[in-house]
Amino acid sequence: TGAFLDVRNLSVKFPTDDGLVSAVNGMDFSLERGQTLGIVGESGSGKSVTSQALMGLLKGTSARVTGQALFQGKDLVTLPESGMRQLRGRNIGMIFQDPLSALHPFYTVGHQIAEAYLVHNKASKKQARTAAVDMLGKVGIPSPEQRYDEYPHHFSGGMRQRAMIAMALICEPELLIADEPTTALDVTVQAQILDLMSELQEETNSALILITHDLGVVAEICDSVLVMYGGQCVESGPVDEIFYDTQHPYTLGLLKSMPTLSSSSGRLNPIPGQPPSLLDLPKGCIFNARCEYAALAGDGVCASQRPELVIEDGHGKRCHLSGPQIVTIRNTR
Ligand code: SF4
Ligand code: MG
Repeated sequence: TGAFLDVRNLSVKFPTDDGLVSAVNGMDFSLERGQTLGIVGESGSGKSVTSQALMGLLKGTSARVTGQALFQGKDLVTLPESGMRQLRGRNIGMIFQDPLSALHPFYTVGHQIAEAYLVHNKASKKQARTAAVDMLGKVGIPSPEQRYDEYPHHFSGGMRQRAMIAMALICEPELLIADEPTTALDVTVQAQILDLMSELQEETNSALILITHDLGVVAEICDSVLVMYGGQCVESGPVDEIFYDTQHPYTLGLLKSMPTLSSSSGRLNPIPGQPPSLLDLPKGCIFNARCEYAALAGDGVCASQRPELVIEDGHGKRCHLSGPQIVTIRNTR
């Protein structure tokens, strides 16, 4: 279709001693430059595996990746590792949850950022150093000139996260995939880093996929949202619609579990029950076992038939309930 990133029927299965784990089951989505897509779900919903598949990080493992992920005409699913290596960094950047996995302990932080710059730019060592110091400053690291020569273990968790973001951003990737980039950080630093990511994204007109379990973060910077459950998309659409015209019981549950300023107790209401076993997905709706509203759909249809993802006016939902039934549920809570 010519989208900047076009993902079609992406699936990932892992063979294990207990059988085949269906981690991602037929994901479809697309993204344009300048847009931010939030992928939301509980842990184990397939968010990270989806991003790993896009980054080619599952190549050479036992994972079975099928479907298509067209990025500028190249299929990231079938592209060999050599081709992937050319895209990683410059074209597609990634920020992980754990900065220590991205930073080498034996090299100074500045050196690593300068090296990332040199991979993608014809520049002298001195120019690379200047660019790295500049980027360290941009991500909010104080005294970047001095911090350049320090090792990752000299940095606090928040500073390491900023350093990793600097390393990803200095390559000016056209597509940035950030997996829980701020989860480990305190709220203030979290907000600063999200602001910075979206500022730099606007500056370079890049596309951003933000993977998170936190709908508050999504509300903050995303244009559209994709809600994952059991390796499937259960609801997708523009961020306002997901929040104010929610169409899926699981999304309703996630919204209900969000901390709000008005809740006096400050306690969350997590959705009761466990996600489905990815070794043996239920025949019907994968959310059936935890859904309060299955009876409403009638005739045991939720237990026997897997709902399709139906997209209307850019808003997708995978549920047997009709729109008016969902509106009723939403309004009675
Ligand atoms: Fe609940 Fe049925 Fe909708 Fe699944 S299809 S979310 S079980 S109402
Ligand atoms: Mg994860």
